[in-house]
Amino acid sequence: MEKLQAIRGMNDILPEQSLGWQFLEACFHSVVKGFGYQEIRFPVLEQTQLFKRSIGAVSDIVEKEMYSFDDRNGDNLSLRPEGTAGCVRAADQHGLLYNQQQRLWYRGPMFRHERPQKGRYRQFHQFGVEAFGMSGPDIDVEVLQVAATLWNELGLTDHLTLEINNIGSADDRKKYSHALTSYLSTKLEKLDDDARNRMHTNPIRVLDSKNLDVQSALVEAPLLCDFVNENSKTDFKKLQELLNKLGIGFLENPRLVRGLDYYNNCVYEWTTDILGAQGAVCGGGRYDGLVQQLGGRATEACGFAIGVERLVLMLDSLDKIPANVLKPLDVYIAVIGENIELEGLKLSQAIRRKYPHLGVVCHCGGGKFNNQLKRAFKSGAEVAVILERDGEGDESLTHAKIRRLDESGDSRLEEIVDIPEKLGEFLKNSAS
Ligand code: ATP
Ligand code: MG
Repeated sequence: MEKLQAIRGMNDILPEQSLGWQFLEACFHSVVKGFGYQEIRFPVLEQTQLFKRSIGAVSDIVEKEMYSFDDRNGDNLSLRPEGTAGCVRAADQHGLLYNQQQRLWYRGPMFRHERPQKGRYRQFHQFGVEAFGMSGPDIDVEVLQVAATLWNELGLTDHLTLEINNIGSADDRKKYSHALTSYLSTKLEKLDDDARNRMHTNPIRVLDSKNLDVQSALVEAPLLCDFVNENSKTDFKKLQELLNKLGIGFLENPRLVRGLDYYNNCVYEWTTDILGAQGAVCGGGRYDGLVQQLGGRATEACGFAIGVERLVLMLDSLDKIPANVLKPLDVYIAVIGENIELEGLKLSQAIRRKYPHLGVVCHCGGGKFNNQLKRAFKSGAEVAVILERDGEGDESLTHAKIRRLDESGDSRLEEIVDIPEKLGEFLKNSAS
């Protein structure tokens, strides 16, 4: 029979790769915990309307990338293409937002029907943080500090650049949109179909185009910053001052607009040049209008989302995943002889109890000594404990040897010992 394959652009993460993911997740958890953020979990499926109203009906995501379908009741649902909309929906539905401040984080799979390539998938994962009920710019800076701290923990600081821009208020952007539409109508020959449509429906989206011809047509386009209101400018200046004083480097990019409609004031992206075209690893900003746009009461908000696959690619290519993280196992127990299963399981458990940080596998499924030892070597464990029974009866002698499993094989040490006691010493000695 023909074997079924995963859906294109949706990746399996195999055990060996999972170790890198776990390392990244642990770093992220410890950083957000350090900043006092709390986890929120919400469904991967929502009403399609939620994303249309938040991300914007005229956006790449909603127009071309969503996995939407009618369920058996005829309700139109979509797999979430990002986390902010669901986070706001959940937090507001459960009364977490009104008159309160919240610092939240989430993680999980997102779905976009894009052209799969390195760093761009149809199911991918994000870590995100969202802060509600604070007007900024201090909280915007705190949120950026969360990301900067994570890069630092991961050893990626030198490979990431923060680009920021001030996109002002919805009113500012309306005025700017008119100016941009007039400008674009003088460059029609360089625009693609998308840009020609959007110059009327949502001209700012044109700035986000990945088409180089369209980008070249934009060189002399009016700049959004010339349309931004004074309050917003003051906040943006303060934000830059704070970043400078905290030693968080940034570049101002007046053309950065982000692909989602809900942002206002400060928006940003962290990019790297080691991932080719898929250089954005984190994007975010302020979105004060979104809660109200989704039916809640006006609530200030800001946050970012990190693309986990792109971070993992960075960690891999820069060799930043520590070797000890990549070791899946510490001890492999081989069990030789008849009726020795119980002793094996008990000894493994005794070792686990005494050394809760160790990974201990007890060989299952029987087999000859050589085969079991081969598995022990293959398992990646540092030591094998060989538990052996002489003879058949329950009364017969059971003894154990400890053996180091390094590749040279010449430092092997074999002793009959009180295993849980001696194992600690042995591991300590072998670590040094
Ligand atoms: P891009 O410009 O690369 O399409 P985006 O602006 O669409 O990114 P956001 O919606 O801001 O991305 O999502 C935040 C982060 O999620 C991105 O910076 C990126 O790291 C990651 N990301 C977005 N889309 C994908 C995808 N299809 N596959 C893998 N990661 C993705
Ligand atoms: Mg995109």
